[in-house]
Amino acid sequence: MPHENHPGLIYCRAPRSAVFLGGSQLKLKQLLFAVLLLGIVSGAWVLQGYMSIESARRDVLMMDTFVSVLADGRQAEKVLDDAIVEMQRLEALLSAHVEGSDVYRINQARGEQVSVSTETIEVLLVAEEAFRQTNGAFDVTLGAVLKLWGFGTDDRRVPSAAELLEVLAGVGFANVEFSREGQWVRLKHPGTRLDFGGVAKGYIVDRAAEFIASRGIRHAVVDAGGDVRIVGGRPNIPRWRGARPARVGVQDPTNRANLIAVVSVMDAAVLTSGDYERYFVEDGMRYSHIIDPRTGRPVQGLSSVTIVTSKAAVADALATAVMVLGQEAGMSLIESLDGVEALLITAEQELIMSSGMAALTEILR
Ligand code: AMP
Ligand code: MG
Repeated sequence: MPHENHPGLIYCRAPRSAVFLGGSQLKLKQLLFAVLLLGIVSGAWVLQGYMSIESARRDVLMMDTFVSVLADGRQAEKVLDDAIVEMQRLEALLSAHVEGSDVYRINQARGEQVSVSTETIEVLLVAEEAFRQTNGAFDVTLGAVLKLWGFGTDDRRVPSAAELLEVLAGVGFANVEFSREGQWVRLKHPGTRLDFGGVAKGYIVDRAAEFIASRGIRHAVVDAGGDVRIVGGRPNIPRWRGARPARVGVQDPTNRANLIAVVSVMDAAVLTSGDYERYFVEDGMRYSHIIDPRTGRPVQGLSSVTIVTSKAAVADALATAVMVLGQEAGMSLIESLDGVEALLITAEQELIMSSGMAALTEILR
């Protein structure tokens, strides 16, 4: 406002930018214009900040499945490229079928100590804990049994009882000796073979998610064929709407093109084991790739098990274990664990949920 005694004088505190823009004798109009301009410039600057948050996505074939990774954040494209490279490195380390991998070398070592990477020790620690928690239903020493059934090869067949008895002698986590500090592994029984197929995918999903988060990305999804870990919430929604839970579909075991349920979570893993994922049929019998370590035979009973918990590696091991344990023992294990929920689909396609699961789940039928 002009001062009544000094009509030529602008009577107001000039913002610093006005001083910068107009010098000492700014007229009101000029000042308003300057403030407006400042508003536009700073608005554009903030907008540009929002826009530079990239949304990126990668789809690759890996770990015998389709892997999709999505992220919102600065340099998301680069971060996802690096995450994929890291996942490929881990797959090559942990697969029993890749020549020269840690697991391959352990299996070939004829009882000698084998130096391994930290990652292999980390997977063994998860596997050991799962073996203990599940009374041996989850057991990474089933490698020789899986090979006998031909899983992981083109030559699947039903072995004889005598063959099974022979390879079962090497099954049991007590046959694995390993040192965290020394970073070595040794198989004590000549027949023991490791197979990380029931836990490695989850572990790799975790590592990718943690890598992405460590690069400053706030919202991301790592999806390995339906085995998912969410960093933050759902990517690719406008920032002003805030963080939203990500929605993860659970397939209908009788028709994989359909979803039977949707689970909504933030900062969590959602992971499914199913008897429909890998199996073969002989003489009208269906043989699933999940083996009961007590008998050496494929499990029967549940169609699928979906686990929700913070770590995908843990979810992976538990999902496989609950397939082995079956509905009752499986559900009582889940209820005994903190921060773990489950959705079971029985052979009759009945849906059974743990106490905290319904709050996260939308049933689609
Ligand atoms: P998933 O799809 O996570 O249930 O893993 C199944 C894979 O885990 C199989 O293809 C085998 O490589 C391995 N596996 C099968 N049965 C078991 C078991 N009882 N404990 C641990 N791993 C298993
Ligand atoms: Mg598993």
